[in-house]
Amino acid sequence: MKPRRISKRTHKLELECFDEDALKAIHTLRKAGHIAYIVGGSIRDLLLGNQPKDFDISTSAKPEEIKKLFRNCILIGRRFRLAHLRYGKKILEVATFRKGDTEKGELIVQDNVWGSPEEDVIRRDFTINALFYDSESETIIDYVGGYKDAENRFLQTIGDPYIRFKQDPVRMIRCLKFQARFRLQADGRMHQALEDCRQDLVNSSQARIFEELVRMLESGSSRNFYHLMHRSKLLEILQPVLATFLSNDKRFEIFSFLDEADVRVLEGTKKPTRPILLSCLVFPILNKHILQLSKKSEKTLHLGQVQKETSQIIDSVFQPFFHLPKRIKAKMVSLLTTQFRLVPLDTKVKTRIRIPRTPDFPLGLEFLELRSRIEPGYRIILEEWTEAYKKRPQTQRDPKRRGPRRSSSYRKRGPKK
Ligand code: ATP
Ligand code: MG
Repeated sequence: MKPRRISKRTHKLELECFDEDALKAIHTLRKAGHIAYIVGGSIRDLLLGNQPKDFDISTSAKPEEIKKLFRNCILIGRRFRLAHLRYGKKILEVATFRKGDTEKGELIVQDNVWGSPEEDVIRRDFTINALFYDSESETIIDYVGGYKDAENRFLQTIGDPYIRFKQDPVRMIRCLKFQARFRLQADGRMHQALEDCRQDLVNSSQARIFEELVRMLESGSSRNFYHLMHRSKLLEILQPVLATFLSNDKRFEIFSFLDEADVRVLEGTKKPTRPILLSCLVFPILNKHILQLSKKSEKTLHLGQVQKETSQIIDSVFQPFFHLPKRIKAKMVSLLTTQFRLVPLDTKVKTRIRIPRTPDFPLGLEFLELRSRIEPGYRIILEEWTEAYKKRPQTQRDPKRRGPRRSSSYRKRGPKK
């Protein structure tokens, strides 16, 4: 099929909008006789008026040929073999054109058959993600009508949405991701397909879906995204406990946290880390649970109990589908438990401000800062603890200076007189 070619006069994207190293890499590939274009997300982002975060390249060169041309190249991936070009912290992804079956509605298990430029774009998920940018002629090459869709801010799959979602159910999550991020209008049939195919999500890799969710939490559009996940009932499948909580008139609590997380992400000064962002999905549920428990029990709950309950509630919010990475979960348990140290359950008791030795304590403070944006009453408590943290003794600042480790009997009885 002959593609539509959109000239610079029409698309108006300047060469400077693209990453300089990506343009140089394309030049190197071309000089060696290969075809090479910028592809996918970055062209979409630019056409929709956003700043791309990465620039991917598609080429006719095979991975080994790419490796020979670039000293900073490593080849990665087994299921999807790719070349990574490293420039300090930045990585450019260079993939060989490949083809995929767009007609068969079966789960894709391998994706490594080389193809033509046209085959390479029609195997992609949405029309707006399937544009090439030819940097030599400064034209956009469009085989699927993605340019017009970007102009109209319209989201549709390439080919039949039922087939494309069944082939790879992660595309359903991506569908809501693009709608949430760019506020696009969605194709009606695609929306129906999303409802009808949502059970297929359980067949896909939890790690890939988890990565898409976390990327959305980091995107500054997490509130919109979770709203769409809930409305389309995808959340019922992935995070049923959270879906029930949102349905029981408690949605504003979770959404206030996501709103604040989005504001922090977009401010960009100190981006919240993954444990903080994931904790926004847990804290309102945990808080309600702990308050109920402490009302039921006669004595106040001690922090050990709170910690145990926190671990269980985190599991309940992410299971049965997700298995949180251990390191992330440990940080979440720590920062969430710390909330009940910073703001005690029994408000009549005056808290003793003592900074614990846990290295994750600053994360707890950071989360309290987020809470205080929602409930300004916590500002004073936050200031008291932050002050105490700044003035903590030297021995707590540098664990190496803690002095010799004493036996437990020494710690109980003290030195012999
Ligand atoms: P982001 O801005 O979040 O990175 P993206 O669209 O660039 O969004 P990537 O995961 O970086 O997403 O994927 C790069 C490109 O690969 C996409 O633009 C799309 O063309 C294609 N792609 C990604 N995931 C799929 C999928 N599940 N099925 C088909 N094509 C996909
Ligand atoms: Mg990308």
